[in-house]
Amino acid sequence: MESRSSTPTPPVVYRRVTEDESSALFERILQRCSRRTAKGPPVLVLDLDGTLMDNRPRTVAILHDLAARWKDKHPEEAKALLTATADRLAYLLNDTLRRLRVAEPALVGEATEYWRQRFFADDDLRHDVALDGAVHFVRDCHARGATVVYLTGRDLPMMGLGTFASLRTLGFPIGVAGVEIILKPDAQMADEAFKRMIAPTLARVGHVVASFDNEPANCNLFKEAYPDADIVFVDTQHVPGAPALRDDVPVIADFAVARTLSPSVPPPEGEP
Ligand SMILES: [Mg+2]
Repeated sequence: MESRSSTPTPPVVYRRVTEDESSALFERILQRCSRRTAKGPPVLVLDLDGTLMDNRPRTVAILHDLAARWKDKHPEEAKALLTATADRLAYLLNDTLRRLRVAEPALVGEATEYWRQRFFADDDLRHDVALDGAVHFVRDCHARGATVVYLTGRDLPMMGLGTFASLRTLGFPIGVAGVEIILKPDAQMADEAFKRMIAPTLARVGHVVASFDNEPANCNLFKEAYPDADIVFVDTQHVPGAPALRDDVPVIADFAVARTLSPSVPPPEGEP
């Protein structure tokens, strides 16, 4: 999620895998998560925003709080902000505001600044929700022996503590053996450049067997770095004008199928 304006680009329609293909894909990844190879323990690399988590409720909460502030001075715009729901959000804040008919440039500027300061900070990460089946799937992979690496474009100084808390609250493995979390050292760094820099270093953790991301560019660069891994594109939202997704990267909507493949997985040892 970013605040800058977009030039309108037609939305790309991705061909998602069928139910059977999805079952086979997840089954294969679960099996790979159970096998240690000469390259070390199996490693599962997971993006957070738009991949394991839906962060749109974060923006909705922020816009609703802004509505309370604007209630007296800008009642029309405040009312409009209160109609914001996750489904009505665009990827870019400017487009969302336009959709909500907040058009006055000074108010757009004020809303953007208010949103930016809160969206990219610890406190409001508590509004994020897990994608369907995501907690079950990650717990299952971890329980089978995979090292789970959360690799996120969130930055460590402003979002590290909130990210840790959010993962814990939602039930993802965190704070136990076999889990790593990698955040940007600095918020100014571009997400793709950051992930491109980090990707080759993950070989020191073990054998990268699978990776999930909601950005085509990140999926493409992981497939280049780890051609034999299962790189999977999660079709939620992504940056407008993203590059074309490679043909050898399957597309899923969420992780719901993982729940049908294995019984419920208890929290990792050491977690409450
Ligand atoms: Mg993402």
